[in-house]
Amino acid sequence: MRVEKTEDPPFSPTDPFRFCPADGTRLEGPRPSGGASCPLCGRSWYRNPAPAVGAVIVDGGRALVTVRARDPEKGRLDLPGGFLEPGEHPADGIVREAREELGVELEVDPTPILLAPHTYGPEGTWVLAIGFRARISGGEPRPADDVAAIRWISADDLDTADFAWEHDRRAIRTALEGRD
Ligand SMILES: [Zn+2]
Repeated sequence: MRVEKTEDPPFSPTDPFRFCPADGTRLEGPRPSGGASCPLCGRSWYRNPAPAVGAVIVDGGRALVTVRARDPEKGRLDLPGGFLEPGEHPADGIVREAREELGVELEVDPTPILLAPHTYGPEGTWVLAIGFRARISGGEPRPADDVAAIRWISADDLDTADFAWEHDRRAIRTALEGRD
């Protein structure tokens, strides 16, 4: 049976979960900690920010930025990256995203240069952005997946560039200060 969408029930990114993802039972709570517990299986469920990774790819005093092909923030500047998959190390996540979006291999400095909580999309979902400095170790970058175009920018371009998320400007400035 096909279910028609009939309404848009309010559900903010900080509202507690209402049903147990394991068995579908209506959850109790939430408790003051924010966890909502399942009377059937006893598990507690929490809303958490989703970790996302981004790479500032540097080369000769310039950094690679992408133009977003899709909403949210379509047409604005971004860094290559995306949401981590379950169990994935952040540095591995950025290597995977660079393959998908640009077709390149990355050498990633594993020490983050940015940690920024921010909201994403029309519902304001909370994201924790983790930024890394990286270099291309193989391939020529070509836009693919959700990237419309790529550009190389220098520190002089940073003040006027139209970034979807302001913290990307900071991450690029930090990455270019350690230029090589
Ligand atoms: Zn349950």
